[in-house]
Amino acid sequence: MKKGYFGDFGGQFIPELLMPPLIELEEAMERILPSEEFKTRFANMLKENVGRPSTITYCPNMSKELGVELWLKREDLNHSGAHKINNTLGQGLLAKMMGKEVLLAETGAGMHGVATTVAAAMLGMKAVIYMGATDVVRQAPNVNRMRLMGAEIVAVESGTKTLKDAINEALRRWLADQENTHYCFGTAAGPHPFPKLVREFQQIISKEARQQFMDRNDGDLPDVVVACVGGGSNAIGMFHNFVPDESVKIVGVEAAGTGEPGCHDSAPLDHGTDGILHGMKTKLLQTKEGQILPSHSVAPGLDYPGVGPEHAHLQDIGRAEYVTVNDAQAINAFKMLSQREGIIPALESSHAVAYAIEHKEELQGKSVLVCLSGRGDKDLGILDEIL
Ligand SMILES: *Cc1c(COP(=O)(O)O)cnc(C)c1O
Repeated sequence: MKKGYFGDFGGQFIPELLMPPLIELEEAMERILPSEEFKTRFANMLKENVGRPSTITYCPNMSKELGVELWLKREDLNHSGAHKINNTLGQGLLAKMMGKEVLLAETGAGMHGVATTVAAAMLGMKAVIYMGATDVVRQAPNVNRMRLMGAEIVAVESGTKTLKDAINEALRRWLADQENTHYCFGTAAGPHPFPKLVREFQQIISKEARQQFMDRNDGDLPDVVVACVGGGSNAIGMFHNFVPDESVKIVGVEAAGTGEPGCHDSAPLDHGTDGILHGMKTKLLQTKEGQILPSHSVAPGLDYPGVGPEHAHLQDIGRAEYVTVNDAQAINAFKMLSQREGIIPALESSHAVAYAIEHKEELQGKSVLVCLSGRGDKDLGILDEIL
């Protein structure tokens, strides 16, 4: 396999100027990640600060109603409310041990910005967060959280004023200030080595969940493992340690937006074509001429026109299947999990839960382990408007 590629996808499609920090990062990964100091400090932080291991939860009421054995991996219980902190603490500690002082990050839903700011505060670093101006308004509670914890927020006014524009501006800032700054990329995408680095920190989700499920089920594995796919970090974390288990079906759920014909969605694996964005070759929502299309989902964390390259590869070789769930189906799952089990999921995670509801006929009697990537507190404003 070519270096930095997953089959045909991945690579480093970047300006020459960005090569030095990426080489420095890759070298630091090889040197620092296997060190006893890193491993011990990181394990302690995951335990003390994040609250790992996160539990798995059986859902008795929904299982009965659907005829599907529904289990959740509870990343919503992590400190700061989602899986993202696994990655930001990992990258933050790596950057600190590299001698960096600033954590730079882009954020869409605000969750990655919050998780980066939390990591920076814990590690005694400064957080600089780039956010599309539209998202700054849509995600006001997260903006307040970041400011309270000492982050500098940069509102990006270019393009569609959302995540993809924030990534472009953050990469520019990194170029200007490489010496002191680590670019803490928020998902398992972007140029090599980010997809690999983020997977390294998120694979703990399936490492724990696989063992926890077997402990609760006489050594059996789940029939199906499910996660929502935005950039693909919670999904690759949830899938990674199940990939060698041939009996386990792996399903990624993309956002279909409103689901009406002609409307924008966020489903590059289901509806996209091969192309290059943010330093990687992957599946993209684009015109025939290669113009990136606007994406849409009710779940702000899924609203991205690209996807991590390893997912494009897993789809290509047939190891994982990618399906879509629309806004209304996700909201239905949100209500159902809240009312039947007393768990308020993030709208992103609701897409993964919706898979079990929408496909219940073919899943009768099967065990389905869903990654509940985050909690829904951040989405109550969006839901207020809709319901
Ligand atoms: C950000 C986010 C996602 C989407 O990001 P991935 O990198 O695809 O995991 C999903 N769920 C929650 C709760 C999020 O905050």
